[in-house]
Amino acid sequence: MRVGVVSDIHGNLEALQAVLKAMEPCDLDAVWCLGDLVGYGPDPNACVETARALAWQCVAGNHDVVATTGDGLEEFNPAAAAALSLTARNLSPENRLYLAGLPSHLVMADVTLVHGSPRNPIWEYVSSIEVARHNLDRFQTLLCLVGHTHMPAVFTFSDGRASQARPQSGIETEVSAGRHVLNPGSVGQPRDGDPRAAFAILDLARGAIVHHRAEYNIAATQGKMLAAGLPSRLAARLEHGW
Ligand code: ZN
Repeated sequence: MRVGVVSDIHGNLEALQAVLKAMEPCDLDAVWCLGDLVGYGPDPNACVETARALAWQCVAGNHDVVATTGDGLEEFNPAAAAALSLTARNLSPENRLYLAGLPSHLVMADVTLVHGSPRNPIWEYVSSIEVARHNLDRFQTLLCLVGHTHMPAVFTFSDGRASQARPQSGIETEVSAGRHVLNPGSVGQPRDGDPRAAFAILDLARGAIVHHRAEYNIAATQGKMLAAGLPSRLAARLEHGW
């Protein structure tokens, strides 16, 4: 089984379309989405509709939860909160209902899917090997997929050893031995200094993951953001990948 893994799309339709195009030749059996379909970007409805139309398996992210409930808006900085308030106002009733119905975690083909972390699926950032280690007893499968940090990452726990790697685009990482916490990076707002959209292909039969980057028309997204009245700081950061 070959699965496309995407996360943190954040209403960035141009980035999402570039990732869909890059995944086209990969002969995928499914796409799994680790949350945050909306927030920050100018096209929340189109991104949610894409996930619905393509029947993705998707878990809820913190932006998805706040956009539909308002709970936790105070957790965000002013620019993110302003974007989220605009997103919440613009969501269609159908898309709001879809987001509100997303589960906080899923187990698919013996792989755990969460947005944040297994012990706090909505809010915790798995940003270090220590946090990853503290979550190991909170999921039962060998592999766990996380998003939320917007940083591609591979955490490996095998034979009593722990390691953290920053995966490079197009390079395969073997995940057949030990346990792994894997982050595909962010489609719509990468924060690792590489502005290209990030995603991953997980090959469960071979026990391997390949992280990928796809270029997209950043200027087009930025233009839409400014026209929609979204904070200019959020538009500017896209071209720097942070
Ligand atoms: Zn996010």
